[in-house]
Amino acid sequence: MLEMHYYGDPVLRKKAVPVEKFDEELQGFVDELIETMEYEDGVGLAATQVGICRRIAVINATGGQEQTYVLINPEIVYSSQEKEDYDEGCLSIPGITLSVNRPSVVSVKAQDAKGQQYLIENAQGLLARALQHEIDHLNGIMFVDHVSPLQRSLINGKLKKISRAQREKSQDL
Ligand SMILES: [Zn+2]
Repeated sequence: MLEMHYYGDPVLRKKAVPVEKFDEELQGFVDELIETMEYEDGVGLAATQVGICRRIAVINATGGQEQTYVLINPEIVYSSQEKEDYDEGCLSIPGITLSVNRPSVVSVKAQDAKGQQYLIENAQGLLARALQHEIDHLNGIMFVDHVSPLQRSLINGKLKKISRAQREKSQDL
């Protein structure tokens, strides 16, 4: 299992670098990322959340095993004008759920673990949400960045607590 990194860890603010080599090492990492996402009971997980700054994320928006998307070098190629509110949480910010406004429909271009290009066309609902959330992670953006200053002020105490726990943990190593 890979080790999770939490809010306050500088690695979560880094822009991840593109993957160029599609080899066994990459496949091994992707398998571990999927395993960690399932263990943590998440809908998605980005490599930056386990401290690896590479453009890799996995998503399973349905719970069925055959529905796991492996996203290498993902890119949003279409976002609808129409937006919607949707409750989001993040494995790196435990205990916080907030309504975030984002485009309702997106299309994403990505590569699989073998380097094969594919397109997820007109994703909606939870999948659209997860795609935007995970691609944000690869750019150093977290979902709490999208909320209003008022919403933000309401969760500031909790965020500080998570940051403090994160710092204490890193000092133990
Ligand atoms: Zn997240």
